[in-house]
Amino acid sequence: MPNARVRQLRAVMAESALQALLVTHLSNVRYLSGFTGSSCALLVTHDRSILFTDGRYRTQANEEVEHARVVIGKKAPSIQAADWINGRTPGPLALGIEAEHLTVFSRSALRKALPSRVEIRPTASMIEHLRMIKDAAELASIRKAVQLGSNLFKHVVKAIRPGVKELEVAAELEYQARRAGAEAMSFETIIAAGKRSALPHGRASAARVGRGFVVCDFGVILAGYCSDMTRTVYVGNPSSASRNFYQAVLDAQQAALASVRAGISTGEVDEAARKLLKKRGLANFFTHSTGHGVGLEIHEAPRVAAGQKEILKPGMVITIEPGAYVPGKWGVRIEDMVAVTERGCEILTSTGKELVTI
Ligand code: ZN
Ligand code: ZN
Repeated sequence: MPNARVRQLRAVMAESALQALLVTHLSNVRYLSGFTGSSCALLVTHDRSILFTDGRYRTQANEEVEHARVVIGKKAPSIQAADWINGRTPGPLALGIEAEHLTVFSRSALRKALPSRVEIRPTASMIEHLRMIKDAAELASIRKAVQLGSNLFKHVVKAIRPGVKELEVAAELEYQARRAGAEAMSFETIIAAGKRSALPHGRASAARVGRGFVVCDFGVILAGYCSDMTRTVYVGNPSSASRNFYQAVLDAQQAALASVRAGISTGEVDEAARKLLKKRGLANFFTHSTGHGVGLEIHEAPRVAAGQKEILKPGMVITIEPGAYVPGKWGVRIEDMVAVTERGCEILTSTGKELVTI
């Protein structure tokens, strides 16, 4: 519940000697208050939580917002918050801002609107840090989003055939996603066929599917929570070299999955995948990190990458998505979403991983 979340945030604010925090990143506002509008600022003090928005959102804010007072005004929401501080608080005050999310322009407008007794202090990832651990309600929402995503894979397989455009496959997938209840895709669908499968972020293009691997990386948003999965299929009859290449990536993915449990670092998970690909001589072709946190945003903390020291804790939700890409030739990636548990992890993505041939 937002209430418990705000309480946790206040404890962190107290540690940083902040009397107030101006929350402007939309996902963070949603996390703390439930509000899903796109013009808002949430001011959290040691005893108050006030959501500032404008008249367009009056009805929506009153319906959605929990554990915060709603104030409707005409000025920009962060300036409304500054005015509130101006009128309601006496004496010196340290106001935290979300440095990663506030523009230089907004910061200077805020400075002008605030009295000099208010010190503006940039903060980083304060709420993002809390968001790493999902509560029971969030885990339930994420399971539903991932299930919806997993169920779409059969439509992708049906749509892929020699000669079809990558964009047509993406269109069919996205149409089916909407029909199944998705609010939106969680990122631009990747359908990368043939040589394009070697592009780790090969967004669906007008290129036509031919013989070879097709990397399909997609996700949906359901009740605000994102899903993210990748499967790589093969059009035609795979050679044993193709099968071995696929198997190497699958083995790396399984090794990383097997390493996940509370208490180890995300860097160690990355290492588990990397070690396996190194053994097969493919280390240089694994050009990205092993995974990332997922929740209200498609990429959020923690990073699952080489050298990362963040320790996994129960309730974290991350992707495990090693890949190998030989430029100009082919690429394979396999991605599941998992929830970290005390002794291991719950694999949320339910789609099989044996190489599907079309
Ligand atoms: Zn993905
Ligand atoms: Zn991902």
